Amino acid sequence: MSYDREPREMHKITCSECGQEAEVPFKPDGERPVYCQECFSKKRKPRRRF
Ligand SMILES: [Zn+2]
Repeated sequence: MSYDREPREMHKITCSECGQEAEVPFKPDGERPVYCQECFSKKRKPRRRF
């Protein structure tokens, strides 16, 4: 069977970066800014060089 994985609960958010609506698999705490997939991955990209 393929029911071994629970569906992720998606939460609708408004991206703090670009203002687009998006869904995130975590619950926004309302304090920290939330980003859409695109902005999130942009933010996650390390800019530091070692
Ligand atoms: Zn965005």
